[in-house]
Amino acid sequence: MSWEIVIGLETHTQLSTQSKIFSGASTAFGAEPNVQASAVDIALPGVLPVANRAAVERAIRFGLAVGATIHRRSVFARKNYFYPDLPKGYQISQFEIPVVQGGTITIATKDGEKTVRLTRAHLEEDAGKSLHEGAGELGQGMSGIDLNRAGTPLLEIVSEPDMCSSEEAVAYARALHSLVRWIGICDGNMQEGSFRCDANVSVRRPGAPLGTRREIKNLNSFRFLQQAIDYEAQWQIETLEDGGRIQQATVLFDADTGRTRAMRSKEDAHDYRYFPDPDLLPLEVSESWIERVKSEMTELPAAKRERYQGDYGLSAYDAAQLTQSRETAAFFEDMVQRLGADAAKQCANWVTVELAGALNRDGLDIAQTPVSSALLAALVSRVRDNTLSGKMAKDVFDALWKGEGGSEGAVDAIIASRGMKQISDTGELEGIVESVIVANPKSVEEFRAGKEKALNALVGQAMKATKGKGNPAVLNEIFRKKLGA
Ligand code: ADP
Ligand code: MG
Repeated sequence: MSWEIVIGLETHTQLSTQSKIFSGASTAFGAEPNVQASAVDIALPGVLPVANRAAVERAIRFGLAVGATIHRRSVFARKNYFYPDLPKGYQISQFEIPVVQGGTITIATKDGEKTVRLTRAHLEEDAGKSLHEGAGELGQGMSGIDLNRAGTPLLEIVSEPDMCSSEEAVAYARALHSLVRWIGICDGNMQEGSFRCDANVSVRRPGAPLGTRREIKNLNSFRFLQQAIDYEAQWQIETLEDGGRIQQATVLFDADTGRTRAMRSKEDAHDYRYFPDPDLLPLEVSESWIERVKSEMTELPAAKRERYQGDYGLSAYDAAQLTQSRETAAFFEDMVQRLGADAAKQCANWVTVELAGALNRDGLDIAQTPVSSALLAALVSRVRDNTLSGKMAKDVFDALWKGEGGSEGAVDAIIASRGMKQISDTGELEGIVESVIVANPKSVEEFRAGKEKALNALVGQAMKATKGKGNPAVLNEIFRKKLGA
């Protein structure tokens, strides 16, 4: 009998505010330990936290982007526990009433689109960080605590247990990652911990009620997320098949071994003794605030995808590629703006194939591209007016990529300096076609006998004779005419 895997994700996204969620201390990454922890962040006696408006506004933006309910009144609560990186003994979070409730994220799966439901998204503060021996000045056997991160604003986004494979979980995490960057609430930097996932995993027989879950903590790369879920699900299946039971637990993923191991048995909400934080007023969000945030939001990726498919006839795949980031979409739209909607498909190809390939190869972000949208549009227009063959255009692209010429005239300058102009003139090409026919009687015979491939060989010879400058489409046509096809 088969098994079904069930996954729900809790994602901590660090909100990109200048200051902490309840204090004015800086959130900048990479400072010397403990220079950015204010008295409020560590709750020294007598201080009072004040909610950061910019953090709340980012939560509203997220709620609007996923079609959620934004509670007009939510409550900050203390979640009480002890840990060395939380010397104040509690974390300020939201419990019974989160600021954002419900909403959905759409993901692409191998069986088409799937909607993952969101349970909630709540605001909370981050804790500090334990540093272990070897870090900074720490000697052997020493651990240190860096409280710079204490009080950094987080939006914890909780999904329903709607995913049923590691691929779906990764697709969800990627979609969420791209959305939070798109709407500008999180920088998405996973190495710096700005976007971390906890994966809740259980298995069950088809049709059976949900199994007992184990929660894998703090996965900070998509690859680890996938590996951890795969290992965990397999481990649970083997444990159950061996007659064992799954105990609810919090587990850690060890990237070196690729295994998960239990860290502690799972605590329940009542263990945390949640209660409303007496130092903070309930969080009130007015209708006009929500309206203003809504009016300031840019077009969302889902709307763009629909428009690209409807207006430009792009495939769902291309539309998805082009909306991976706001920068990519802007790049593509700028090209279409310059060349017209007719050229949209060609522009999409250049962005998703050549440009994406080169960026990927050199490990660059689109914001760092040496070939601007204006330059790429100039190049594509020379393909469209038949000046360049596809092959030549790729060579020009490589030259642009290497920084040959920075201005918009660079494309024509490269074409001129390399004598690259494609020959599309029928008169000029006919003579070449005739001599190729004479020199290749075998291919001619094969083509006449119905072997279409033989024509490619002939066109190839003619391309060689023109040093790659012949227009293959025109050559093709002339051969067909001359050979009476
Ligand atoms: P907690 O905050 O204690 O981890 P929640 O009940 O809020 O608990 O659940 C957290 C996450 O676990 C959610 O993303 C939810 O979808 C997921 N989840 C709940 N039950 C299961 C289950 N049986 N299998 C897999 N995931 C689950
Ligand atoms: Mg949890």
